[in-house]
Amino acid sequence: MPEGDTVWNTARVLDRALAGARLTGSDFRVPQLAATDLTGWAVRESASRGKHLLLRLTAPTGTQWTLHSHLRMDGVWRAYTPGERWTARPAHLIRVVLRSPGAVAVGYHLHELALVATAEEESLVGHLGPDLLGPDWDADEAVRRLAAEPERTIGEALLDQRNLAGVGNLYKCEVLFLRGVSPWTPVRAVPDLPGTVALAQRLLAANRGRWTQSTTGVLRRGGTSYVYGRRAQPCRRCGAAIRKEELGERVTYWCPVCQPDRA
Ligand SMILES: [Zn+2]
Repeated sequence: MPEGDTVWNTARVLDRALAGARLTGSDFRVPQLAATDLTGWAVRESASRGKHLLLRLTAPTGTQWTLHSHLRMDGVWRAYTPGERWTARPAHLIRVVLRSPGAVAVGYHLHELALVATAEEESLVGHLGPDLLGPDWDADEAVRRLAAEPERTIGEALLDQRNLAGVGNLYKCEVLFLRGVSPWTPVRAVPDLPGTVALAQRLLAANRGRWTQSTTGVLRRGGTSYVYGRRAQPCRRCGAAIRKEELGERVTYWCPVCQPDRA
């Protein structure tokens, strides 16, 4: 599940592969950028902001641009060495290929792919709340934004990237389990909002630099989460069957015993 940590890791992969290089070719396979050619453009850096990826480029004219992408549920960027086979996903899912002398970056199933002037990056990410993994992470501001809508359920509020940027379904479920809070608790009734926000940040930060997302400290398959992806399996704390509810892309897993409804 691409959440803030996955996107942070992806930004680092792209940065290592391309930063400082001059592109020797590009191939966009989306209609809005089909005519775009980045040959000769220099890659300045790759960064993440919440779940958004920002690849910053300098055109041969000297103007600064940002190639934006979003992974959503299924997008992925991979870096290959020139000549290496691209095996991460089927070829028909490729949305863009960026070539440099030392690496080829292939973006599969990317969303919101757009090239904007770097000066206008805010139009893409300016609405986001504090970035959990950003250098400017501001826990107090995240708490303030969450608390501004006291009647909203905490499950919804944590997913709203305008409150804090980087939490998806996995971390939402796991944080609330660890805090013993039902996802349907209104924000005003969450016992310790700053503690909840701090825990979300710690969980994401712990998974930087690795692709396995674990909230339990266990990295082996089947052991990485308390509730997420564990419908009908026994709660690791109390043994009750973990429950799941799905509303479109919003999936919630919780333990009905450890997370009693306080509403
Ligand atoms: Zn339980």
